[in-house]
Amino acid sequence: MKTRPLGSTGLDVAPIGLGAAQLGSSEYEHSKEIVFRALDLGVNYFDTARGYWDSEIKLGKALKGDRENVIVSSKTTGKTKEEAANHIDESLKRLQTDYIDNYHLHAMADMDDVNVRLGGPLEALVEAREAGKIRHIGVTGHTDTKFLVAALNRFDFDTFLVPLNIIEREPLTELIPLAVERNIGVTVMKPVATGLLPAPLALKWLMNQDIAVAVPGATTVHEIEQNVSIGQLDDYTLTAAEEAEVAEWTTKLATERCRICTLCLPCPSDIGIPGTLGTDVLYNHYRTMGPEKFGQFPWEQSRVEDERSMREGLIEKINDHAACDSCMQCEARCPYDLPIVSMLRTMVPNMQDMLDIWSKESAKV
Ligand code: SF4
Ligand code: SF4
Repeated sequence: MKTRPLGSTGLDVAPIGLGAAQLGSSEYEHSKEIVFRALDLGVNYFDTARGYWDSEIKLGKALKGDRENVIVSSKTTGKTKEEAANHIDESLKRLQTDYIDNYHLHAMADMDDVNVRLGGPLEALVEAREAGKIRHIGVTGHTDTKFLVAALNRFDFDTFLVPLNIIEREPLTELIPLAVERNIGVTVMKPVATGLLPAPLALKWLMNQDIAVAVPGATTVHEIEQNVSIGQLDDYTLTAAEEAEVAEWTTKLATERCRICTLCLPCPSDIGIPGTLGTDVLYNHYRTMGPEKFGQFPWEQSRVEDERSMREGLIEKINDHAACDSCMQCEARCPYDLPIVSMLRTMVPNMQDMLDIWSKESAKV
């Protein structure tokens, strides 16, 4: 893949990286195959976070022989200087390395968050950079891009990570032009809208934007191969047919894709609506793999156990029709007019099937 500069960091990145959150879903041997294949194919940017289950541990183990040849990114959600400093030290241990190339303040949610995180936590990152524990400082956000713009206007961040895809184009308005002007490295999450978009089309569209690297996840070797094949194209120009497809997807998903903006919250039943509709990675695995392959997947059992109790509670809350029927506050607040309640209810039979499949599989052991 032809590399691109990562802002002014001095690092050159292949435009398709690996979003490593999904490594937390599978057993190490399976996760390792995906990392090894990514390395073989020229992927050199690996994005993880201490919040992505045991992804840092698996990534660190798999990258051990190639550490000097790759760029590793991780993140902290710490709200104090001490917490962020501890998180950096933990990430270093988990990743089995003595430096992290790009360390982020993770998931800037609103202005209060910007104020808090750019205080003590940012000081911890600056000190860690001075100590050589991290090399560059980034920031991430899933909600309104104005919070990332505010953060970039208050500190000289080296990079940021933001959702960008055919449907979620908000960063193209102000955030990415600002990055181009200031030579800040743009890294992109949710490039295929959590599996809703066809990856080849979505990634080709994205390669035409002013970004350094996209970090799609991969649950199979085939997926990483498919993603990289787009990064390897000599020419990213969309054909007329592809342009038409992009327009179709934009219309089709306009009222189906949750933008994770969090504006529907709070929910009186405490349903995590953005996380359920917008970022549910395991539900996405079920939807894209189908029940049979989902049952055969080498699940990380500790992850499944966490998921099981969380999901049982979630199903119970969504099934409380009376609570939603007398509320409907979320739909009134959603700026994208998503039919939130019916979207949640549509997920329930599939989530129940996921639980049943996991129960059957563990009964076999
Ligand atoms: S309608 Fe249901 S999901 Fe929406 S805010 Fe109310 S209780 Fe929560
Ligand atoms: S459901 Fe609507 S308001 Fe809630 S996070 Fe998704 S897009 Fe935003």
